[in-house]
Amino acid sequence: MIRGSCLCGGVRFEYARAVSQVGMCHCSQCRKVSGTASNATIVVPAADFRWLAGEELSQRYEKPSGWSTSFCRTCGSPLPQTMPGVEAYWVPAGLLDDDPGLRIAGHIWVGSKASWDVIPEGPPQFEEGLPGRKSS
Ligand SMILES: [Zn+2]
Ligand SMILES: [Zn+2]
Repeated sequence: MIRGSCLCGGVRFEYARAVSQVGMCHCSQCRKVSGTASNATIVVPAADFRWLAGEELSQRYEKPSGWSTSFCRTCGSPLPQTMPGVEAYWVPAGLLDDDPGLRIAGHIWVGSKASWDVIPEGPPQFEEGLPGRKSS
């Protein structure tokens, strides 16, 4: 099991397996929500995800566009949330306390990244969302 928690430790979760590597999203919404250049996220099947504590501390904010984020009511850390239309959780990679053994798979929404954001060479970069997938 890989475990994760928020900054205050009030919210804790674990998962058995991730079905993605780490995706880096550089869109304007992920920048606001993370306060930094990009969001680092992984995808975990709902069946493989379990809250250990503090699920009731999770507060969801949804924009009129439907784009949403969940965060800890106490400390403000972004939290795992379900993904629309899929039986899976979107998990902020920075919350993980164990080494998930993952690498960065790619960068999306690079076309709208911050001017000061320098992305290292290596993983593929996409101007918008993943090809063939609707994203924000
Ligand atoms: Zn917290
Ligand atoms: Zn984004």
